[in-house]
Amino acid sequence: MNILLLGKPGAGKGSVAKEFKEKMNIVHLSTGDIFRNEIHEKTELGLLADSYISKGLLVPDEVTNEIIRSVLKKDPTKNYLFDGYPRTVNQAKFLKSAMAELGMKLDGVFDLETSDELVIVRLSSRRVCKTCGMIYNTRNHNPKVEGVCDVCGGKIIQRADDKEEAIKERLKVYNAQTKPLIEYYANEGLLHSVDSTKDSPELFEDILNIING
Ligand code: ADP
Ligand code: ZN
Repeated sequence: MNILLLGKPGAGKGSVAKEFKEKMNIVHLSTGDIFRNEIHEKTELGLLADSYISKGLLVPDEVTNEIIRSVLKKDPTKNYLFDGYPRTVNQAKFLKSAMAELGMKLDGVFDLETSDELVIVRLSSRRVCKTCGMIYNTRNHNPKVEGVCDVCGGKIIQRADDKEEAIKERLKVYNAQTKPLIEYYANEGLLHSVDSTKDSPELFEDILNIING
């Protein structure tokens, strides 16, 4: 089973993906996580990606598409959860043909619906562990020791693209480039809309109920 999560930045794709990983046998494929890891490791790809990401812009399609193709090629028999990819209609078309070549297909696309206001509140208060990626929030989920990750002791930071200016840019980019995917997947007959103002465990249950029909 291959599932895709759509939604604005801050809609909660990462949090729902975490529920999936904990409760199902599925590989979480987050291009954002892949890029952040490359940036952390200071690879050539990381440097390139960072020059776009820190401005709130998308990494070019050719770069992102090839990363996804090479991951899927390694094991087309696994279950995948796509999070943050595709983000453009061009990427969606690429994914469709890359999957077809590997004998794979998408089983469902879930659009996590939420307001711009909520997204801005969620993202500007989000903090992440630089080492393990654990997510915190200054509103309702602080670490026991300020600035130090509960899980691994790593340093807790604010992502450069979670600063207010970059959030606004990301919403603009979403509206221009990613939102058209809703119509694209509706036409493919794969789209389900879910209310992502809910907390992630409840949202996960909603998605599961749709999957299980
Ligand atoms: P968000 O919280 O915006 O969903 P992600 O962690 O998915 O963030 O991605 C962070 C950044 O990485 C994006 O703003 C974008 O610059 C880049 N990125 C992630 N996925 C893609 C993609 N599929 N295509 C192009 N750029 C991407
Ligand atoms: Zn940590």
